[in-house]
Amino acid sequence: MDTQHCTIGVDIGGTNIRAARISRSGDILRKKIVAGSRDRQTAIGLIADLIREMDGPDVVAIGIGVPGRVDAGTGMVLSGGYLDLSGCDFKQLIEQTFGKPVVLANDCSMALIGETGVGAARGAESAVMLTIGTGIGGAAMESGRIVNGKQSAGQLGHLIINHAGRQCVCGQRGCVETESSGTSLRRHLDEAGYSAETRFEDILPLARAGDELALSVMTRWAGPLRAAIGTLSATFDPAVLLLGGGMGAAAMDALGFLPKVEGWYNTDVRPAALGDDAGVIGAGLAARDAATAANAGSSAPLGGKRVLMVNGIPASGKSRLSHAISERTGWPVLALDTVKNPFLEHIEGVDRLFNRTLGKASYQAIFAVIADAPDGSTFIVDAWFGFQPIELLQQHIASSGVTGIAEIWCHAPGEVLAERYAARLDQRLAGHPGAAYIPELVELAKHASPARLGPVYDVDTTLPPADDAVVNWVRKTLQGETA
Ligand SMILES: [Zn+2]
Repeated sequence: MDTQHCTIGVDIGGTNIRAARISRSGDILRKKIVAGSRDRQTAIGLIADLIREMDGPDVVAIGIGVPGRVDAGTGMVLSGGYLDLSGCDFKQLIEQTFGKPVVLANDCSMALIGETGVGAARGAESAVMLTIGTGIGGAAMESGRIVNGKQSAGQLGHLIINHAGRQCVCGQRGCVETESSGTSLRRHLDEAGYSAETRFEDILPLARAGDELALSVMTRWAGPLRAAIGTLSATFDPAVLLLGGGMGAAAMDALGFLPKVEGWYNTDVRPAALGDDAGVIGAGLAARDAATAANAGSSAPLGGKRVLMVNGIPASGKSRLSHAISERTGWPVLALDTVKNPFLEHIEGVDRLFNRTLGKASYQAIFAVIADAPDGSTFIVDAWFGFQPIELLQQHIASSGVTGIAEIWCHAPGEVLAERYAARLDQRLAGHPGAAYIPELVELAKHASPARLGPVYDVDTTLPPADDAVVNWVRKTLQGETA
């Protein structure tokens, strides 16, 4: 695998088509936006031109978010929106044109992958997203994977909030899209007697000042949305529910005018963070994960070696979890500190730079042990994998014959890590950074993220341990990868 490789993310939106080169860590390296077209042939031509412009030998895969329902199994588009790509094998067409693997998914699914990867729900294993624009798009994620049902789950704009409500394009009545989309807001404004020029931004200050007409529009628009959010909370109990799309932030504001409801469902509802870039970033990340999985599956003989990465920054609780998994599975733990500490004991005057060098050598030692192990072995590797570039990890994995990877991402808020780290200062060997490291650790906690070279399981280590659930997931994931 090329160590500098990247992917192309494409987002086919209502009015624009966006494409970008996306780095492994989800950064936009280059981006271009062109006006879209309702005409299928014209749109396909525009998309192909954009991909051609972004393509290069370093591009390993292409991810495309399309409006409408997509069959997750076959990649076929089942129905369209503004642009309808149903009935043609668009995925195969792009694959054949560019000779690279293509991942196709609903545009909101891609946006959710972007937001959980590097946006407002970063690191969340379970999340739900509603994109509020002309219509309402939706996607749900469970255990780091998009929920697809038998074909195309996640059409959350079609949750029914009033069974006797307005006719919806989907064939049902009273879908949340018919009351809480951007289009519906226009209708609510018209019905309240506001002029055609009146926008959400105009009535927001009025509603804040207690104007009854403005408040009635807020209630009519956001009330059904809150009903849908309640249904989603009861159905998925997500760690985070994101509101995105062009009207996502407005919907957050409007929800604030509704009276509080006390009850069982207290979902963390947040505005999405990546704006219009969520789709291209998510499509790029989805393509990255597909390419990594394909690579891991084909690079070594069947029954090769498996690695469970237990990842997290210092004091994130990964060592306790590693040993709990080891006790239940019998798999050995290879911890960076286990290799490094004897050197720290015997070598005097180790400063931070040398400590880092020892860390890098220990990292290499761990993968040398894995490389020497027989096929069929499974190892738990306990490390803060982000201390070295991801490319180095990929090289280690490629050279040690690993065919299956799963990752557990351990995390806790910075303040908790600081407390834990401070409590253990007297147990740390010389050479480990001391109390001066704590502010850095708190800062690191804000930006650290999983490596995502395979499926990821999120563990918030401030919550009571659920080790059996973790082990069940790990067994299923690692065995599923080689089956
Ligand atoms: Zn509907």
